[in-house]
Amino acid sequence: MSDTSLRVVWVYPDLLSTYGDQGNVLVVERRARQRGLDVQRLDVRSDQPIPTSGDIYLIGGGEDRPQRLAAERLLRDGGLNRAVDNGAIVFAVCAGYQIMGHEFVNDLGERSAGLGLLDVVSSRGEAERCVGDVLGEADDQLRLPELTGFENHQGITHLGPGVRPLARVRLGNGNGTGDGTEGAWRDTVFGTYLHGPVLARNPQIADLLIKLSLDVNALPPTDDTWYEALRQERIAAATQPA
Ligand code: GLN
Repeated sequence: MSDTSLRVVWVYPDLLSTYGDQGNVLVVERRARQRGLDVQRLDVRSDQPIPTSGDIYLIGGGEDRPQRLAAERLLRDGGLNRAVDNGAIVFAVCAGYQIMGHEFVNDLGERSAGLGLLDVVSSRGEAERCVGDVLGEADDQLRLPELTGFENHQGITHLGPGVRPLARVRLGNGNGTGDGTEGAWRDTVFGTYLHGPVLARNPQIADLLIKLSLDVNALPPTDDTWYEALRQERIAAATQPA
C-alpha cells in the first residue's frame, strides 16, 4: 500500500461483471474505509492498460466469450502478472478464477491460455452444469469462518501442487472434479467458484485481502450484524430440506 491510500483495481467490468461482481469492490472499499483507510478505486475497462501499482485486484465472472476476450487482453497487457510479481493481491471469481490458471476451454471449444498466476487447469465438465448453493470449510491457514456462496459454472478446475484449495465443500461442487475442493490460492492470489458478490456473504475474505495489503495480522473490529444475518439466512436456506 502507498503511504496515503489503498488502491483497489476492478479489472474489466465491461467483460467480467455478469453476476453483480461490483458488490465485491463495494465491500472491500467499505470495509477498508471503516478501518480509517483512504481508498482509491480504479475501474479498468478491457481497452485500457492494467495499472501495475494497485494493491488489490478484483476480477469477476462472465460468460464464455467475454471470458476468452478478457484472457487474451490480460495476457497481451501483462500488467496483472507484473503487479502480482510486485506483491499485489488478486481475488478472482469464476471466469476470473479460470483465467488465473494455466488454461481453460473457451466458447469455441478450444484451449485458451490463462495468466498462470495459479497452478490450476480448467476444462469443460462432462456432467451437468454446477449450479446451486455452496458451503465450504475454509483452508485452516486462512482462518476464515465457513464460506457460503452460490456457484454457476460448466468448467471444472484441477489443482496442481502449487496451490492449496480455498475450501472443502460441505454442500455443492466447488472445483467440480469430485475431490471436494473449492477454489485455489497461493501467497496473494485467490480464486473461487463462489460467484457474484461473494464478499458480501463472506466479509472476512475482504478483510483478509486488506490485511495482506497492509501486512498486518488483524484489523479493528466492525459491526457485522447485517453481514452475519445474511450469512445465517443463506446457510439456513442452503441446508433446509427440499
Ligand atoms: N464460463 C465459465 C464456466 O461456465 C465461467 C462462468 C462464470 O463465470 N459463472 O465455467
